[in-house]
Amino acid sequence: MKNHPLRTGNAHLLRQATPGPCNPHLNLGVRQPKWGPMLAPLTRPDLPATLSAAIWRGVKGECPRCGKTKLFGRFLKPVTDCPSCHQDWTLHQADDFPPYISIFLTGHILAPAFIAIGTSDLSLGVMIGITMVLATVLLLAFLQPAKGATIALQWWLGMHGFKPGGRVEFSAPPKGAPGSPWG
Ligand SMILES: [Zn+2]
Repeated sequence: MKNHPLRTGNAHLLRQATPGPCNPHLNLGVRQPKWGPMLAPLTRPDLPATLSAAIWRGVKGECPRCGKTKLFGRFLKPVTDCPSCHQDWTLHQADDFPPYISIFLTGHILAPAFIAIGTSDLSLGVMIGITMVLATVLLLAFLQPAKGATIALQWWLGMHGFKPGGRVEFSAPPKGAPGSPWG
């Protein structure tokens, strides 16, 4: 800061440079969120307004940020970055949480079914076969939506590498407005 334009009398140099998050020397002590350089600004209708809206996009397998593209390239592997809004989705750390969600939901849904099957006149082999098939199908069916919801939750809250999170981005002034980080 020794040779900062404000100290050396060259304050006019500040006007020549581009203000904003790309030039950290021009923030002049004002703390601003770090905006990813590849992240395209989105209009408010594109961004989810609430955590539940972001999670619902993740559950449907859509990009939680823009909702325009697919979140998953393969069954449980999210795309590296969104082709539309360029959000980096490798930053998530969903780990074992989606299987926990899937097991929890499957258990609660199947509990009454197990009771009904257990009190029926079916043979033991048929009972085991039905419950195994039902449990496997439900567990697999819930896995991808649970992972999408987990990624959306982490992105919205700005967890792990998701800086800024969706909540911070939604509350920031939109592009063109005074104080907008997008200029
Ligand atoms: Zn997107």
